[in-house]
Amino acid sequence: MIGVLALQGDVREHVRALTEVGAAARPVRRPAELDDVAGLVIPGGESTTMSKLADVFEVRDPIRKRIASGMPVYGSCAGMIMLATEVLDGRPDQRGFDGIEMTVRRNAFGRQVDSFEAPVEIAGVPGPPFHAVFIRAPWVERVGADVAVLGRVTDGPAAGRIVAVRQGNLLATSFHPELTGDLRVHALFADLVKAAG
Ligand code: GLN
Repeated sequence: MIGVLALQGDVREHVRALTEVGAAARPVRRPAELDDVAGLVIPGGESTTMSKLADVFEVRDPIRKRIASGMPVYGSCAGMIMLATEVLDGRPDQRGFDGIEMTVRRNAFGRQVDSFEAPVEIAGVPGPPFHAVFIRAPWVERVGADVAVLGRVTDGPAAGRIVAVRQGNLLATSFHPELTGDLRVHALFADLVKAAG
């Protein structure tokens, strides 16, 4: 069973994507619900709102503890921001789960290109490049020694920017595979959860 953190954001899309790759999935909002899942997806949405609601629903510390004990987590877009140890251009009071040793910049691709699409290849994912959809997305500016860079933007003004990473059982993408029907990242994550369990 994989949970999708249901504080805010595109929860339904992730539940659907996970179900389509053969995983059992359910929304998770309360600490007790977290006990029932072997992995967690943090959806796209708005990280500042998620940060506030993580306190309201008292899930911040339980999630941090599960991360520390090895639970697989996948964050897309706002979820990537929530997994980062450092956020640039965030709100001063926003706090995440300190999972992946990396610095991300919020809304990094610039206001004039709020959303755009670009091909991205993900290491370890066979097949053609992802048709990646970015919506006010972050990019990764620094990664720690234990973080593997899985994907970068390949062309255009943002060419070379890191948009997919993995640290142990923690996976994050700047883009939203849950919105495009290309379920290879969800399949990769479901495998990771199986292997960890
Ligand atoms: N800009 C949003 C944030 O800071 C992320 C956007 C998204 O998830 N599509 O959380």
